[in-house]
Amino acid sequence: MGVFDRAKAASGLSIDTEEALPYVCLSCGATYEVQHHHCPDCGSFDIRCSRWVQE
Ligand SMILES: [Zn+2]
Repeated sequence: MGVFDRAKAASGLSIDTEEALPYVCLSCGATYEVQHHHCPDCGSFDIRCSRWVQE
């Protein structure tokens, strides 16, 4: 769980259900349970696993 806590602290994202929403849009910060090809919110293709965002 520490990985997600660090990711939140580093990115400033508010991930409420952090374990259930492992993917994040780097453009708008939306989080998802599954990895979309593009963000349903903003259309960005920058969907990443939140565990990788901190690096
Ligand atoms: Zn987005």
